[in-house]
Amino acid sequence: MTIQEQIFSAIKEYDTIIIHRHKRPDPDAIGSQMGLAAILKASFPEKKIFCVGKQYKSFEWLGVTDEIDDDVYKNALVIVVDTANQPRVSDDRYNQGKMLIKIDHHPNDDQFGDLMWVDDEASSTSELITVFYELFEDQLKMTDNAARVLYAGIVGDTGRFKYPATTSRTFAIAAKLTEYDFDASAINQIEDEIDLPLAHLAAYVYNNLTIHENGAAYVVLSNEVLEPFNLGDESTSAVVPLPGNLKEVVSWAILVEQKDETFRVRLRSKGPQINELAKKYGGGGHPLASGAIVESSQDIDSFIEDLDIVVDRYQDNL
Ligand code: AMP
Repeated sequence: MTIQEQIFSAIKEYDTIIIHRHKRPDPDAIGSQMGLAAILKASFPEKKIFCVGKQYKSFEWLGVTDEIDDDVYKNALVIVVDTANQPRVSDDRYNQGKMLIKIDHHPNDDQFGDLMWVDDEASSTSELITVFYELFEDQLKMTDNAARVLYAGIVGDTGRFKYPATTSRTFAIAAKLTEYDFDASAINQIEDEIDLPLAHLAAYVYNNLTIHENGAAYVVLSNEVLEPFNLGDESTSAVVPLPGNLKEVVSWAILVEQKDETFRVRLRSKGPQINELAKKYGGGGHPLASGAIVESSQDIDSFIEDLDIVVDRYQDNL
């Protein structure tokens, strides 16, 4: 049996299925979670299907999570989507079910679950969920809402079909999803929209970006800088891709100070692979989009030196 067949057989076997995704979610985490749930609910109306994880107001347009008692896990199948590492799973009851499945598109650094389907060449977990649907199309039902949230996940994780993981399969799947009844251009619009404080932060990022001659760039968003913008840590997501719009920038880091005075590093690249650097600083992720932690402001310089080395090495090999 293929891994997808094994997953489908587990889904058919269980009456209760609980779907988790990662902390600090993005449209792909929620889209793949809510999309899978909507497909399963429509296909197996007799099953109890739940989505759990911290709810964010800004993502209510993609769906709302369920609050469930610990008891529900007793005989449940748990599926964790879009989450590479166990500490990043939102709601740590994920290992309290009877069976655990991981479906993801991040590098498989933390192998967990009774069954694992990890394809790190897929653009998004929403793409994988749609592939799963297509494999068992004769037994599964897609709904307009499932198509809408899966499309939102793909649009989110591909940077509107811009990032290199966008393949002909991604376009084919997105095209099929848009045959359902939802407003695809409204989704593109929602994902692009920012509010005024965020626009001001974007201006700050452009104005204060340090760009090295080799193309390495960074900006530090300290608590002091962030405070007047009155934005939560999550809102900084929208400014993360911005330095990449500059021709001069090859790889960049946005260092966001946390309440405990450590810095969450959001690392992106247009060429050099930066996930090993992220791992060195307690994080990980994709070759071109990773995250890490810098313990204090004193360690920022050494992190940037390491970033420079990665970019230099890449430029030397061009
Ligand atoms: P972010 O900058 O938070 O959007 O993260 C980009 C990617 O890096 C995510 O998709 C995760 O795969 C990965 N990532 C971020 N933070 C961490 C972390 N602390 N540990 C492992 N991977 C991370």
